[in-house]
Amino acid sequence: MEMVYQSSRNAAEQATASEAILKGLASDGGLFVPIRIPSLDVSLSELAGMDYKQVAYEVMKLFLADFSESELKACIEKAYDNKFDTKDIAPLKEAGGVYYLELFHGATIAFKDMALSILPHLLTTAARKNKVEEEIVILTATSGDTGKAALAGFADVPGTRIIVFYPKDGVSPIQEKQMVTQRGQNTSVVGIRGNFDDAQTGVKNIFNNKELAASIKKKGFLFSSANSINIGRLVPQIVYYVYAYTRLLKEGKLQEGEKLNVVVPTGNFGNILAAYYAKCAGLPFGKLICASNDNKVLYDFFTTGSYNRNREFVLTTSPSMDILISSNLERLIFKIAGDDAKKNAELMKKLAESGVYEITDEMKENLCDFAGGYATTEQTAKTICDLYKETGYIIDTHTAVAASVYQDYVSKTGDSSKTIIASTASPYKFTRSVMTAIDQKYNSMGDFELVDELSKISGTRVPRAIEEIRSAEVLHRTICDKDKMQEIVETILGM
Ligand SMILES: *Cc1c(COP(=O)(O)O)cnc(C)c1O
Repeated sequence: MEMVYQSSRNAAEQATASEAILKGLASDGGLFVPIRIPSLDVSLSELAGMDYKQVAYEVMKLFLADFSESELKACIEKAYDNKFDTKDIAPLKEAGGVYYLELFHGATIAFKDMALSILPHLLTTAARKNKVEEEIVILTATSGDTGKAALAGFADVPGTRIIVFYPKDGVSPIQEKQMVTQRGQNTSVVGIRGNFDDAQTGVKNIFNNKELAASIKKKGFLFSSANSINIGRLVPQIVYYVYAYTRLLKEGKLQEGEKLNVVVPTGNFGNILAAYYAKCAGLPFGKLICASNDNKVLYDFFTTGSYNRNREFVLTTSPSMDILISSNLERLIFKIAGDDAKKNAELMKKLAESGVYEITDEMKENLCDFAGGYATTEQTAKTICDLYKETGYIIDTHTAVAASVYQDYVSKTGDSSKTIIASTASPYKFTRSVMTAIDQKYNSMGDFELVDELSKISGTRVPRAIEEIRSAEVLHRTICDKDKMQEIVETILGM
């Protein structure tokens, strides 16, 4: 039986995988969820003998059932190539008694590359399969990281264009430089005079403008988005969990069937949800430990069963986790409600209306796969420093939130199961926070001086993504007022 998706808010709205990728969101605002999570159909020991691309095929074929073997393999080939700086794609590093799953070896040295390097190919294949003739125009508002990863993924992919809006004075100098130096005939980067919310609202208004949609269709264009609720981003993230488990098996670090705990630094709940789907598909995972920073809305949810977004937003040194609404959590709510779309829809309505919802005791029991924890900014810095002093290994601030939460978890539970920590960004991406965590003296150095110093003390090579922006030419100079975003889009599309 072919795997099909439904809206998390309405069992009657169904879609094939390729339709769900094209639509992104269900028409009732729900997320597409598998009606039944498929099971791995090759053994773990067979998977242990495969390379990353082969494992990717064996996992993704289960979830993207209407893609043919040749379609899916072509997407995988184009995605996991020398954009990654290691053939392993997602290598494991042992340090301090745990395994760090390094998800930062792609084009922008953060884990979003794992999915955004394949999404453009899944999307164009899905368009072809569903006889969509228009050129796909990806519109994205970014606070920094997602924009660059999406640009890198879509650059020069035939049949697509990408337009990224960022707050002109709201991203770091390195993030801005990464974006405005982006190559690719089909890429546009626009700074707006406004903040991230203005950029996001502007993009939403463009998406909701039916007249504009009709007029760009006449010109042969179709708007789409690349955000993290698309199953085309979720499914590729399941792959590296299966890959990680089977690498440890291959190296004799795990016995087949032995439980492996996973710790994930979490924001939008996409990465850890992929680990949960991997467990549901039969991977012998033990606890899924959800690590938050000071924006600990998920920690509170896992400890009390109440989700409450009505709180102050805190800026931390792990900005990609500074989130109060974790969109992908809805997919877990749907599961723990017993695949009940109506129940989930009620809770999401409460969240939209009051910012709060509470789950039932029965649903709470279904959360037993998870544990929640959080780390403050000070604990995060101390973890980076301690790990470096003990082992020489340097982790970024997001990964350090997870490492800190893991230490707490072990001292509270005594759980000595083997554990992987999802390492979501290269320390080179957050150099200043990382280096000053090790020693305050680094605070007086310039950004690129710090990069060289990090390379020296860690004994690692400066990643290509950083080397490139030292000298790269600025290719995008458009700046606009926040109420002129639509006009800019029309100009870019030659309307
Ligand atoms: C996006 C991001 C996260 C959070 O991942 P989610 O899937 O949104 O939970 C964590 N760390 C880094 C570095 C990220 O870029």
